[in-house]
Amino acid sequence: MHGLMMDVPLSIPLIARRALTLYGSRPIVSRRPDRSLHRSTYHEVLGRSARLARALRRLGVKPGDRVATLAWNHARHLEAYFAIPSIGAVLHTLNLRLHPDDITYIATHAEDQVVLVDKVLWPLWEQCTGRVAARHVVVMSDDGIVPPGTLDYETLVAGEDDGFAWDDLPEQTAAAMCYTSGTTGRPKGVVYSHRSMTLHALGAGMVHVTGLSERDTVLPVVPMFHVNAWGLPYACGMFGAAQVFPGPHLDPASLLGLLADERVTLTAGVPTIWLGILQALDAEPGRYDLSRLRAMLVGGSAAPSAMIRGFRQRHGLHVLHLWGMTETSPIGTAAFLSPALLDADETTQDAYRAKQGRAAPLVEIRGRSAQGLIPWDGTTMGELEVRGAWVARQYYGADGPDDRFTADGWFRTGDIVTIDHEGNMTIQDRAKDLVKSGGEWISSVALEGALMGHPDVAEAAVVAVPHAKWDERPLAVVVMKPGRTFDEAALRGLLEGMFAKWWVPDAILPADAIPKTSAGKFLKSALREQHRAHYGVADESARGG
Ligand code: ADP
Repeated sequence: MHGLMMDVPLSIPLIARRALTLYGSRPIVSRRPDRSLHRSTYHEVLGRSARLARALRRLGVKPGDRVATLAWNHARHLEAYFAIPSIGAVLHTLNLRLHPDDITYIATHAEDQVVLVDKVLWPLWEQCTGRVAARHVVVMSDDGIVPPGTLDYETLVAGEDDGFAWDDLPEQTAAAMCYTSGTTGRPKGVVYSHRSMTLHALGAGMVHVTGLSERDTVLPVVPMFHVNAWGLPYACGMFGAAQVFPGPHLDPASLLGLLADERVTLTAGVPTIWLGILQALDAEPGRYDLSRLRAMLVGGSAAPSAMIRGFRQRHGLHVLHLWGMTETSPIGTAAFLSPALLDADETTQDAYRAKQGRAAPLVEIRGRSAQGLIPWDGTTMGELEVRGAWVARQYYGADGPDDRFTADGWFRTGDIVTIDHEGNMTIQDRAKDLVKSGGEWISSVALEGALMGHPDVAEAAVVAVPHAKWDERPLAVVVMKPGRTFDEAALRGLLEGMFAKWWVPDAILPADAIPKTSAGKFLKSALREQHRAHYGVADESARGG
């Protein structure tokens, strides 16, 4: 017997119609490259988005065509987010922090037909153009002047009316695609469906994750080119939250100014962004009025517990730790405290806030070791596997079986985790970053978190270096805060007080900076390469990227 409920397709136009009818006057604010602010509303943005949809059709964009964006976070990018999927085309966000060769590879692999480029990013696109067979390049410019051979976004939008029906699409239609950053090999395309995006927006808004509503003003620092800014642009549209876009200005002072002036209630980004913000706040306590900010979402790599504590104790700010991947849309887990923890002391609560947390609604997790599925005992390590309505089931263009997907339909994340009896998941490492010393695993993430807990340390990364006796030993690279002196003995003492002796890195080295990936994570492959001979062995046993 079948259920007798409506089979309403879950598609992006459903979100657009809701935002238009219920939240039209909610603000959309963008910082332009010249630092001035552009103020708009959902009504205006979706009106322009409708005209963009018509213009793209007029340019010959057909259902299934890939339309790429190479753009910062701003209102026009939001217009593209709604217009492209709503004509059945596929929004392909290109990562502007990648090398032009990688952008070329990705745009070619995806067969992008039309590319929308920020004028300030034209010098980057110029290094790809000619090698990418896009039919049209549309430039988003503030002064009406665009490079020869390209189309002006504003002219296209102005040439249409906003008679666009925002009709539903079959929910399994591709809506968007994003390539993995390639820190674990060649970038691979993940293709999101209308259904997965809509469900993810709903999931992202739930109280376990963000608890979004029209009382919120959201500033996504996480780029719209990296896993759809964690789904926030669509979630905000669904729940009516105002959006504030920082454009290209991501330095701590610019972000803090915007958070304060626009009375932002919720923001999101990777830990390296928040480490910089915490330093800026510590340097000038009380300078910014952040009294409206109710949560800072942190994910992409492990948020050090000292950072979470520092925000809370010194500035009264609350960090919510999320885990996810390009392949999981990205929200997989969130460290939302269970009722039992609400009465716990702050140290215990902080320990849970630093975990990656429990599976989001509609997502399931499990861990697997060589012995089979791991017990949820909080100590046994295994590779995290995940399953859910917004998790990829295959990569774009994959032909044949892929060992990232299990026979029973789970995705193998490559993350090594423990899970406790309440389902709280803790990332111990990425499989390729684990230090395997004398047959035992050492968590580089735990060591990094401890080092970043030292008040003089700005950033720390720990990598595996080949070692004659132990196979691998950990090596730490530490960046001190401005004006602080590197003191190896003090750092060693800190670690010896917290970990078994054999976990403590043999070498702790000072550095001016830690190389970062295009998403702002520590680029550990570069550090491993740089230090691979440090313990006197530099043979083929050293691991690559
Ligand atoms: P890339 O694989 O290129 O880094 P993704 O953005 O898809 O691109 O990264 C997903 C990975 O980021 C996860 O597999 C995990 O290793 C890491 N990650 C994400 N969130 C967290 C977190 N909260 N704590 C620790 N690691 C995280």
